[in-house]
Amino acid sequence: MDYFLNEQQIMIRDLARQIAVEKVLPVRAELDEREEFPWEIMKDLAAADLFAIFVPEAYGGLGAGILDMCLAVEELSRACAGVAVTFASSALGAFPIILFGSEEQKAKYLPDIASGKKLAAFGLTEAGAGSDAAGMQTTARLDGDHYVLNGTKQWITNGGEAETYSVIAMTNKARGTRGASAFIVEKGTPGFSFGKKEKKMGIRTSATRELIFEDCRIPRENLLGREGQGFIAAMKTLDKSRPGIGAQALGIAQGAYEEAVRYARERVQFGKPISSFQAVQHILANMATKIESARALIYSVARFQDSGAKDTGVESAMAKLYASDIAMEVTVDAVQVLGGYGYMREYPMEKYMRDAKITQIYEGTNQIQRNVIALGVIKRSAGRKK
Ligand SMILES: Cc1cc2nc3c(=O)[nH]c(=O)nc-3n(C[C@H](O)[C@H](O)[C@H](O)COP(=O)(O)OP(=O)(O)OC[C@H]3O[C@@H](n4cnc5c(N)ncnc54)[C@H](O)[C@@H]3O)c2cc1C
Repeated sequence: MDYFLNEQQIMIRDLARQIAVEKVLPVRAELDEREEFPWEIMKDLAAADLFAIFVPEAYGGLGAGILDMCLAVEELSRACAGVAVTFASSALGAFPIILFGSEEQKAKYLPDIASGKKLAAFGLTEAGAGSDAAGMQTTARLDGDHYVLNGTKQWITNGGEAETYSVIAMTNKARGTRGASAFIVEKGTPGFSFGKKEKKMGIRTSATRELIFEDCRIPRENLLGREGQGFIAAMKTLDKSRPGIGAQALGIAQGAYEEAVRYARERVQFGKPISSFQAVQHILANMATKIESARALIYSVARFQDSGAKDTGVESAMAKLYASDIAMEVTVDAVQVLGGYGYMREYPMEKYMRDAKITQIYEGTNQIQRNVIALGVIKRSAGRKK
């Protein structure tokens, strides 16, 4: 279907597609098997200026929109979602700075993120605070010209590899969500260390680690926005980035679907290609319909965000929820189309299926997305005139 992309969007999509085909596809199985961080590919993405997409022009970026970002993430995910999330998490780490940073903070940190010289990461989750992010225990205490951070963030994408971290910590526990604040923490700050690299089901090339703060002193000027704005910063960041998780899921589904169609045309049983059996055709038809529906929703929500609309949380959650659910369904069906071969690591299907699962979990599980959507639509309906 034609989504009437502009010239810049077509250029970004084609560039990301070219890198995905030439640089990612040949090594994806090996990166996954060895659980190796994709540094070489990050360098290719930097050389192609793709990290500039999400950074405003004033700080060395392209100042392009969420749709542009979604197109790049979709193309990379079509080849390998682990590579795509490594790229996208730099945007996730940069969004709190873009949304809440001062001129000085933006000028200091964003140009290196835009050039891809430095990766960023976002630290919200803790062992006891996942869906219930407000239950976080990491604290930041003001001591003269410094904040002193103590606590541990869990499962942080790009943890250990990124140089710049947006971290949410409690500055006043008694105030609940209003007592959380956002900070920039640089790798190498004394008292800031990392846990071991987690062993995961999927997206295994990506790095997931703990961020450990032990009396970590950071300059007072690293506070993002005002004290007490940390929870809002986290929620606004997730609203902005969730269509990107949708795009990741969409790319995974698209990649699995293409492999399934190719295989169905080639595989012969009972003297015919299996694509001639109606049962197989219907599986492919369902896949194609779900994928196109997800794409239409994600692109529309991304455009809605790019229009500057303020209240996009519901739609953002819908894009993430729908695309990740269909990615799971499509990849399970794609394994089925390949039969036993789908179960073998020699083919990419089992990787697509493993990679799809995380899109239903991170940046808020799909149960939480349904909560966000339900609360939002009920609130909107209360404010609507009959
Ligand atoms: C590979 C990976 C990478 C990640 N990267 C990052 C990152 O870069 N930065 C970061 O901050 N975090 C990151 N996370 C954390 C991720 O966002 C959380 O795992 C996620 O928000 C869910 O939290 P939880 O795992 O603690 O699950 P829990 O909150 O313990 O939920 C467990 C189950 O209970 C359900 N549940 C919980 N509360 C409710 C409710 N109120 N209503 C209905 N159901 C509910 C959930 O849907 C889920 O099914 C990452 C996680 C993983 C696995």
